[in-house]
Amino acid sequence: MKQVAVIGAGTMGNGIAHVFAQNGSNVRLIDVSAEALDRALATIGANLDRQIKKGALTDADKAATLSRLHPTTDLATGVADAELVVEAATERVDLKLEIFRQMDAAAPAEAVLATNTSSISITAIAAVTNRPEQVIGMHFMNPVPVMKLVEVIRGYATSDEVTERVMGWSRDLGKIPVEVNDYPGFVANRILMPMINEAIISLHEGVARVDAIDEVMKLGMAHPMGPLQLADFIGLDVCLSILRVLHDGFGNPKYAPCPLLVNMVTAGKLGRKSGEGFYVYTPGSKELVVSPSFA
Ligand code: NAD
Repeated sequence: MKQVAVIGAGTMGNGIAHVFAQNGSNVRLIDVSAEALDRALATIGANLDRQIKKGALTDADKAATLSRLHPTTDLATGVADAELVVEAATERVDLKLEIFRQMDAAAPAEAVLATNTSSISITAIAAVTNRPEQVIGMHFMNPVPVMKLVEVIRGYATSDEVTERVMGWSRDLGKIPVEVNDYPGFVANRILMPMINEAIISLHEGVARVDAIDEVMKLGMAHPMGPLQLADFIGLDVCLSILRVLHDGFGNPKYAPCPLLVNMVTAGKLGRKSGEGFYVYTPGSKELVVSPSFA
């Protein structure tokens, strides 16, 4: 893989660009926001430094990785020579459909167009392009440089050949790809989000306190983080929007988001990124403190 374009330089885009560049690809990192590009490069630099400290990388590796990263705000020129484009822009259907129309017009005819969406239908995204057999989900996990899984999602029209290429490219990054089909939530979020929702329902019904629910799941199920802490980490707005995709997509009431989750998002309590969710987050502190709303 020589030429990769990554669209969106946020949390996921910078991680995806990082792993491709570290593994030898030339990466054009594209964002509408020049500040987002600056932040992404600074984050990648800091994450590479962390790898150097751990002895996993040398200074020369860092310099080589950074030299393969080319930021731009121009999507059309950014994808013009790509063999693979990975879209990791904001999770909004209208936005992704528009980006895929533009990508389809500007990328080489043989390029594979992938999306890192957490929940939007790959088949719907593919349908706005003239190459639906070359459109696929490449769902990296956060933080991308650390997490091994890539959920590779086949849309209705995705070809076997494109799926195999994407599985191979994921392995080349040192990741473990797992192939799944395109149904709401794919596999990861179809199973994870109902668990998180059930944890919130248990809290809402007074079954147990925040820290008790998380402790049971950590100690009892060997989960590294309890479901409420994980929800804060993912973002409560993101959890809510994925649950709504599951609820709309299957029409099954078992996916209905807990009213407490809806209220918290409406009140702007989005978890770690807003400073408060089920826990409160103080910059510089790693202590897990239950939010006063639930103490
Ligand atoms: P983010 O908000 O951190 O970053 C999104 C970036 O997209 C921003 O920098 C924004 O400026 C940019 N953007 C918006 N419109 C654009 C456009 N038209 N062209 C180019 N760039 C544009 O979001 P994120 O958390 O990195 O999520 C990105 C994608 O990854 C979403 O589809 C999300 O569902 C998925 N995802 C997120 C996670 C996670 O844990 N955050 C995990 C797996 C998948």
